[in-house]
Amino acid sequence: TPSPSLADYYAEQAAQAPDNLDAFWLPFTANKAFKARPRLLASASGMYYTDIEGRQILDACAGLWCVNAGHARPRIVEAIRQQVGTLDFAPNFAMASPLPFKLAERLAELAPVDLNHVFFTNSGSESVDSAMKIALAYHRVRGQGQRTRFIGREKAYHGVGFGGISVGGLPNNRKWFGPGLPGVDHLRHTLDLERNAFSKGLPVHGVEWAEELERLITLHDASTIAAVIIEPISGSAGVILPPQGYLQRIRQLCDKHGVLLIFDEVITGFGRVGKAFASQRFGVTPDLMTTAKGLTNGCVPMGAVLVSDGIFETFMQGPDNVIDLFHGYTYSGHPLACAAALATLDTYAEENLFEKAIELGDYWQAGLHSLKGLPHVVDVRNFGLIGAVEFAPRPDAHPGARGFEAFTRAFNEGQMLTRITGDVLALSPPLIVEKAHIDRIFNTLAEIIPKLD
Ligand code: PMP
Repeated sequence: TPSPSLADYYAEQAAQAPDNLDAFWLPFTANKAFKARPRLLASASGMYYTDIEGRQILDACAGLWCVNAGHARPRIVEAIRQQVGTLDFAPNFAMASPLPFKLAERLAELAPVDLNHVFFTNSGSESVDSAMKIALAYHRVRGQGQRTRFIGREKAYHGVGFGGISVGGLPNNRKWFGPGLPGVDHLRHTLDLERNAFSKGLPVHGVEWAEELERLITLHDASTIAAVIIEPISGSAGVILPPQGYLQRIRQLCDKHGVLLIFDEVITGFGRVGKAFASQRFGVTPDLMTTAKGLTNGCVPMGAVLVSDGIFETFMQGPDNVIDLFHGYTYSGHPLACAAALATLDTYAEENLFEKAIELGDYWQAGLHSLKGLPHVVDVRNFGLIGAVEFAPRPDAHPGARGFEAFTRAFNEGQMLTRITGDVLALSPPLIVEKAHIDRIFNTLAEIIPKLD
């Protein structure tokens, strides 16, 4: 435990403006604009950040969709503190601490049936690339090594690894970085502002887009396809919901053609949609599931790939003394991350936080839909405790200019942290959110939206 003076020292460091803003290159940021007017966060507790000027900022996005139990929860803080002084690091190659076993068992209990085996990573991007590699190796182990293609979707976000950007479908995340993986094709996204704008919950129209999968499978031949990867709800692309019946149909088509289905639940996992995982809420079980973010409440980087019995057992049929999967990270199953994750899962369970997204779902939906009719608002979308407001792009500026103005005004004038992607403002508050916070979120937006250029 740091002595009080040491704790004060670090708190002071965190609250001071940096001397040199250029030393740190911020990810996914217009660095020149940011440095002209930096947003600097010093501390966090519960539903709020405090910035270096001492202003309280309501966290309407759970940080980056990850702090599902709210900030600085004492049980999690204490677990990390204890762990670092007990076992700070343990190699996971051919040895391990008991912690990742315990955590894997807990995750398997939470997960859909059959997903009983866990491969640990340090982020969502690593989880996606790991899941893709497991899918390829699985087909090869069982003598179908020609199954090397992946099918992703337009507008999908699967992190920033080369695998993830290849199956992902956000043009800006792809175009700078060469051709990506060969043999990847994409389904259409399921956003349809003409038919589905202002839907409440899952949209009614669009199940027919799942049939595109049959077309792509026929085009490439099922025998060449390793897996389909899908976010049950696309988060980073601006909260794009699956039409009713869509995921069920995708599952049927994968089964029909022996293609694996990977659900990327990095955002939808850990209670955001009212169950541990979206797959349970939607009643569709994938063969592999990627997670991260809420796994440790964002405190320590960690991701995990949950793998079905069938896939795992296929790998275990090889010789006893040969490595079954040539893949892993120095920090897979890191003790600090495991300790944080175990304490996080305890917190979720004790406080029934996953149920909050169902209990408050209608209130959240009503708040979001109260924005309908305000200037520039062309759609609002919601499911569980996730939401988005889409603005018409400004005709006289670059795409995303209006969204960025909304985000900036929310932060500067509304003292509220949100997330933007293009002209979509996304919301995903910590699950400890209360009605009063929800009121504040939508009142703030109702004030700033009419001021947008
Ligand atoms: N997959 C999905 C669905 C995500 O939303 C994200 C992050 N927003 C990632 C993968 C990548 O996670 P990370 O940033 O931890 O690498």
